[in-house]
Amino acid sequence: MKNYAHRTRTLVTGGAGFLGSHLCDRLIAEGHDVICLDNFFTVTKDNVAHLLGNPHFELTRHDVTFPLYVEVDQIYNLACPASPVHYQHDPVQTTKTSVHGAINMLGLAKRTKARIFQAFTSEVYGDPEVHPQPESYWGRVNPIGIRSCYDEGKRCAETLFFDYHRQHNLDIKVARIFNTYGPRMHPNDGRVVSNFIVQALKGENITIYGDGQQTRSFCYVDDLIEGFVRLMGTESGFTGPVNLGNPGEFTMLELAEKVLQIVGGHSKLVFQSLPADDPKQRQPDIGLAREKTGWVPKVPLDEGLKRTVDYFSKLLKD
Ligand code: NAD
Ligand code: UDP
Ligand code: UDP
Repeated sequence: MKNYAHRTRTLVTGGAGFLGSHLCDRLIAEGHDVICLDNFFTVTKDNVAHLLGNPHFELTRHDVTFPLYVEVDQIYNLACPASPVHYQHDPVQTTKTSVHGAINMLGLAKRTKARIFQAFTSEVYGDPEVHPQPESYWGRVNPIGIRSCYDEGKRCAETLFFDYHRQHNLDIKVARIFNTYGPRMHPNDGRVVSNFIVQALKGENITIYGDGQQTRSFCYVDDLIEGFVRLMGTESGFTGPVNLGNPGEFTMLELAEKVLQIVGGHSKLVFQSLPADDPKQRQPDIGLAREKTGWVPKVPLDEGLKRTVDYFSKLLKD
């Protein structure tokens, strides 16, 4: 249906979540009409409460595993629990969200001829043998483990995106996101950055899983959202997949040290067992994102951690 309002009507699924809420802020600031859709599985309305009075912002309670009929120009499909604690809570629903959710959002994009962006993940690379990981690497994923509902759900959804593109000529933009952190992460979702910061602020022990030598690359949320918008703005026909992440690579012990330096306090490190299938290393090759969009993350880990510590210390005081 033609849009006479001359504003881009943009649907953000998972819009009340950590990344989704930052994306809604950015899109509203750029003059979009935003439909923020969420089933509030992992969040409350708090992340978007400040947008509720805005006439260009609409909050809808809906589960992407069910069909959705709205008229839109662009779709960012972010709906999916992202932390291992959340996605392993109801693994069947996690796969349904990735797969049925992708089918519904692709069907919607097909009918409305909307451009569609999908938040995929570095988990498609599993526990990688290639380091750093370029988009051309096919990955090493356990299909029957406790992380599989997330990894294989996302991989199947990637297949659907590329088949809708080939079969129905859909305008798709596929991002593979590496660990991202920042304000509005959930304090209890079990992810390493929120865990370490909350533990340090409360003076509790810092829980290191395994020997702490496994690595991750952490991207600050503002950098990532800039990457989303740039990828969405690339020319029609450019599909990705495109890695988005900060190539700085740190062990979990190094991360714990940095958090303790910023927060201070007397927390001690305690070593706990490593969860099954926990990847040993992760580092994005971001050459393609840089070449296609000029995107490079700007916020160093120490700076991003400081901003995140500020956020959590206010949250814990409230
Ligand atoms: P989040 O849990 O904060 O946000 C996900 C949102 O989706 C939540 O608000 C949740 O309530 C909603 N949701 C879950 N299932 C839904 C459903 N069936 N229907 C409608 N809404 C549903 O997590 P996030 O970190 O903001 O992640 C957003 C997206 O980015 C996810 O698709 C995730 O897989 C992807 N991603 C995130 C990271 C990261 O480091 N944050 C890394 C890789 C990929
Ligand atoms: N769909 C939706 N909104 C729309 C159009 C489709 O949610 O505006 C859903 C619908 O449930 C459908 C799915 O997307 O089953 C896939 O749509 P597609 O057109 O590819 O398949 P079909 O309708 O032919 O099964
Ligand atoms: N981790 C840890 N302590 C925690 C939480 C996580 O050592 O309290 C480790 C976890 O085992 C993994 C890394 O930190 O090796 C990143 O975990 P997260 O759940 O944040 O992300 P993912 O494993 O999905 O990359």
